[in-house]
Amino acid sequence: MAETITIVGGGLAGLTLGIGLRQRGVPVTVWEAGRYPRHRVCGEFISGRGQASLARLGLKDSLNEAGVACATSAALFYGKRMVASRPLPEAALCVSRFVLDGHLAQEFRRRGGELRVGTRWTGAYGEGVVRAAGRRVEPAADGWRWFGLKVHARGIALAADLEMHFRPSAYVGLCRLPGGEVNICGLFRSATTVPDLARCWRGWLRGPPGSALYERFSGAQLDEDSFCSVAGLGLRPRRATEHREWCVGDALTMIPPMTGNGMSMAFESAEIALGPLVRFSRGELGWAQAQQESARASDQEFTSRLRCAAWLQRAMFLPAVRPALLFMAARSARFWRGMFERTR
Ligand SMILES: Cc1cc2nc3c(=O)[nH]c(=O)nc-3n(C[C@H](O)[C@H](O)[C@H](O)COP(=O)(O)OP(=O)(O)OC[C@H]3O[C@@H](n4cnc5c(N)ncnc54)[C@H](O)[C@@H]3O)c2cc1C
Repeated sequence: MAETITIVGGGLAGLTLGIGLRQRGVPVTVWEAGRYPRHRVCGEFISGRGQASLARLGLKDSLNEAGVACATSAALFYGKRMVASRPLPEAALCVSRFVLDGHLAQEFRRRGGELRVGTRWTGAYGEGVVRAAGRRVEPAADGWRWFGLKVHARGIALAADLEMHFRPSAYVGLCRLPGGEVNICGLFRSATTVPDLARCWRGWLRGPPGSALYERFSGAQLDEDSFCSVAGLGLRPRRATEHREWCVGDALTMIPPMTGNGMSMAFESAEIALGPLVRFSRGELGWAQAQQESARASDQEFTSRLRCAAWLQRAMFLPAVRPALLFMAARSARFWRGMFERTR
């Protein structure tokens, strides 16, 4: 009889891991504090190796049916100007988190997983328990308070499947979703606490009058029910072997959101954990040994990507460096492709 695995957190990492374990006959319980379907702060842009993880887990086709748009082009803006327009080196998927999380939850249940929604895990992270509980809250990082906002909208004409808008203390990405919707998601930093975000979020997302992003909002119909926010983002990369608990997804480490690779890492880290967890569950491997095996494989896969993403995000928020990077992205297809590939 296989040992039951408990997964804390029914986000992308927890549900993907749960589905993979169920496919291999392992009994699994996922504890999720929230409910489905729900909106999440996310650029909703899946790029990189996580797409292959989804395919290997047999989830890509059903996800396509649930509603995914394919993105092949990007445009970069600074203030009023479009500074670069480029094909994506590899096609990405754009999918609403409202659809994606709900779909994975349904799939997990369909495969016989036990999903306890609206239930917060307060127990220890000992043997048999995997932490997939998302990012660890950090009030400030590098002296800044980082927060994210997202809303869906209609009536916005985009210059590319993904628009990336930069300004001194913000990055806002717009991507095309199926059915004519556009996801607007921003990463912001502030030296002080921002009071009353629930009231002033539109101004943060839209930016100053005269910018290309401000113009995008003219005539847009915002789906206010889809608005959500998140604060306390810590952007320091962490190594999996630093953790004493078995972690997957953002609980393991958070890749700077600007690179649009966090969802991919959630799928990939779940896939990496599968083999060792199955062997633990069958009694073939001890917990500590299985956890170390998974952590070492995660570090091998993610360390250089995380380093490059942290460098890129820091540089894009440095006024002295950002223009040079945008210039290089506009002028050099090689530089653009290199940055894309190294952060994935
Ligand atoms: C501004 C911003 C933009 C982003 N844009 C992109 C993008 O374009 N592309 C991309 O790939 N990634 C993006 N990301 C990152 C991506 O959203 C995350 O990497 C991804 O959601 C991580 O999945 P996860 O399952 O690890 O965590 P989550 O999706 O956060 O799931 C964790 C779950 O655990 C639950 N939970 C927590 N504690 C408990 C508990 N004690 N008991 C029970 N349940 C618990 C929570 O309710 C939550 O549902 C972005 C992130 C931000 C902040």
